[in-house]
Amino acid sequence: MIAALGPFAIHALMTSPIDDRSVLRAPTVRAIPIAALLLSFSFCLLQSSPATADPHSKYSFESIAQSSGTTFVSQKNDILITSEFAGGRMNRCDQISDDEFAITIEPERNQINDSAWYAFRIESTAAELSNTHDVTIRLSYVGGTHRYDPKISRDGRTWETAAHLVTRRHPVGKEVEMRIPLDGKPIWVAGQELLDSETLDVWADHLSEQPHVSRSVIGKSVQGRPLHRLDITESKRPDYVFIIARQHPPEVSGAIGMMHFVDAIAGKSELGKQFRDRYSTVVVPMVNPDGVAHGHWRCNANGVDLNRDWSHFSQPETRAVMDQLVKYRTLEDNDRDEQRLCLFIDFHSTFDDVFYTTPRKSNLFPKDFTQDWLGAIQGRFPKYEVNQVADHNVHRATSKAWVAQTLGVTAITYEFGDETNRDTIRSVATGAAEEMMRLLIDLPSKPTQGARVATTNAKPILK
Ligand SMILES: [Zn+2]
Repeated sequence: MIAALGPFAIHALMTSPIDDRSVLRAPTVRAIPIAALLLSFSFCLLQSSPATADPHSKYSFESIAQSSGTTFVSQKNDILITSEFAGGRMNRCDQISDDEFAITIEPERNQINDSAWYAFRIESTAAELSNTHDVTIRLSYVGGTHRYDPKISRDGRTWETAAHLVTRRHPVGKEVEMRIPLDGKPIWVAGQELLDSETLDVWADHLSEQPHVSRSVIGKSVQGRPLHRLDITESKRPDYVFIIARQHPPEVSGAIGMMHFVDAIAGKSELGKQFRDRYSTVVVPMVNPDGVAHGHWRCNANGVDLNRDWSHFSQPETRAVMDQLVKYRTLEDNDRDEQRLCLFIDFHSTFDDVFYTTPRKSNLFPKDFTQDWLGAIQGRFPKYEVNQVADHNVHRATSKAWVAQTLGVTAITYEFGDETNRDTIRSVATGAAEEMMRLLIDLPSKPTQGARVATTNAKPILK
């Protein structure tokens, strides 16, 4: 199935042209004896890695590898495999035989969530190999297990699912074997579509051609990449919805859902126009651009899981977003009638589509919004199962828990499944945005200057 991504073209970026001599000097390039690899590369049973640990307890910020990009050239100089592009991840490549290669994938640090991201490009470089022939890739994971079946692209922009290329699987996922058909053209192989900062920029540029969409920069990542903000409104005195995405680099389906969701808000529909007349939607579409650029499994460039940093605020990315959020109404300041925040959504990906919400009895503004919204989505898509987990991570330092507890506002983590059909993501995300707009348009307006806002002034209940 072609994973067409609609109006936002996906660009794979080769960060630099590959020079053969520099390739051969690269320290990780190696062609080692076949017998040694055959001995070492048995599908042996290995211990699975432990789950997430406190990111601050066992490592220093400087201890993670900053770049995983490397390029491999085969012994006969006829096959080139590289991860030197934005989002690429291949830590090592070894040649087993003329057409068999062992690729090792490592996380950016130890003790990490098992979201084993990989992305590399492979091509035959010898003229006589321009006819189709297969190569075998044995993908082996250090500190993680196989999560993402491959997607492939011939241009780095248009992707198709390619689980059929997997020919062998280790019983607990430590290794998989893929058979990849090669011709004279490069082929990208990755855990999900490559959706990097430049792709998001193209999408945001396209959106901001409309007069009701403006762009700004709210800060910089650890490595100096800009953190972009979009403002979508036609109101001079709006209420606010705040959306963030991509704290976790491999979670591409969540980013795709976010783009469709925001497209619906910014689009030409009458509903979108009505919503923008009343609300401003603030979007920070890429909270972790360094992690995405380096093909990280989970963290930013300091090796910190940003969605466990929403109490420490030890990282520039979380601080930058928090600095924006604290401009809105707080529990202690609930009679201020400006900058009223009505909803916070953080887009992610997991194994299935699910809404991680605060507990159902949370005393948050707007009252009962979560249940009303999820009910409306279910009513709109009766054959689609709307899943809610209502007490997820409420005591962890997540964005959702922080917004709910600090601002007293409805906060939801909206997850799309890794393998949810991309057409389904488009229709559900668009429908969810429209149901959100309908409900929020009906929310009573805030009172005029100086009057007290009739919202919660009690502590939110998060238990
Ligand atoms: Zn996530």
